[in-house]
Amino acid sequence: MKLEYIPQLGGYVPYRDNEMRTNVKNIFVAGDLAGIEEATTAMIEGKIAGLAVSRELTGVDVQSEIEKMQRELVEFRSGPFSEKVRNGLERFFTQKTMNYSTKMQENEGPIGKIRPIIECFENIPCNPCQTSCPTGAITVAENINSLPIIDYSKCIGCGICAMKCPGLAIFMIQENYLPERDLVAIPYEFLPIPEKGQKVVALDQEGHEVCEATVEKVTKSPNKTHLVYISVPEGLSKTVRAFRLPEQSESVVCRCEEISVDQIEKAIEEGYTDYEELRRYLRLGMGPCGGRTCRAIAVAILAKKTGRKIDQISLNTFRPPIMPVKFEAIVRGEMKHEK
Ligand code: SF4
Ligand code: SF4
Repeated sequence: MKLEYIPQLGGYVPYRDNEMRTNVKNIFVAGDLAGIEEATTAMIEGKIAGLAVSRELTGVDVQSEIEKMQRELVEFRSGPFSEKVRNGLERFFTQKTMNYSTKMQENEGPIGKIRPIIECFENIPCNPCQTSCPTGAITVAENINSLPIIDYSKCIGCGICAMKCPGLAIFMIQENYLPERDLVAIPYEFLPIPEKGQKVVALDQEGHEVCEATVEKVTKSPNKTHLVYISVPEGLSKTVRAFRLPEQSESVVCRCEEISVDQIEKAIEEGYTDYEELRRYLRLGMGPCGGRTCRAIAVAILAKKTGRKIDQISLNTFRPPIMPVKFEAIVRGEMKHEK
């Protein structure tokens, strides 16, 4: 099989035509094997390959269905996040780009009515907000990479879109829910789930404490995203975007070494403005995960606090994650996973 090294597609990939047919008779490819992308394009490639195979086996004309799938592929790959893939695929065939809307919602909806606020800024191929809305109030335009827009006149305030958004980018708000209190509904995926009446600490988009809040209602969705409605002082419904339970004393960045945002910010204020220095001073990213979880967050905090761009901060040497192994396992040359 003819292969070529194309870094934009994740390494060595097989040559194929636009029906996913390789240069080896009867062999088709699809998905990550054909180039690392995302799930939707992998499934469309699989459909194209399947249709082409069925035509070869049965002789049934499926050309119009194949062309429809090929148009969908072009659309899914037309956003900014797929630029790398488009460049890689140009080695096989030219990938067209299509226009998509970058227009963000300006209208914040009727004051006093429970309604979603969509804070989705990235042009990614995504639309569960649109497909889950029972009243058709959300539109992502013809190109799925476009930003969603709400027609508030159709919205019934059910909150389904906020629970279905994989990016947790939708919040429900209502001004004057109680006298001098606004309501904010936050998509929540942690445990334990707070109960009605519980006091929590409301945070802003960047994790800073804003005020005390009270849990008014929880819409639970087993094994999925819950929606926690909290009341906050009047005027804060557009500021509060998260919360933590009071017993969670601070927002943790490095989970292995339990280092918080506050500790990192304090160290930067003390003069530890180099990422390597911060690591050594706090043991940040020195746990078993090797910084895989906290590195990006810590660097973002450092960049913001020092007024630099993220790509101006030099990183440490990347090491693979480790896991504890008993001496017994090494001596015996085998590993047993304890239950
Ligand atoms: S709150 Fe309900 S009705 Fe309103 S946009 Fe979201 S899903 Fe649609
Ligand atoms: S589901 Fe969420 S992330 Fe996806 S387009 Fe809608 S708002 Fe954006």
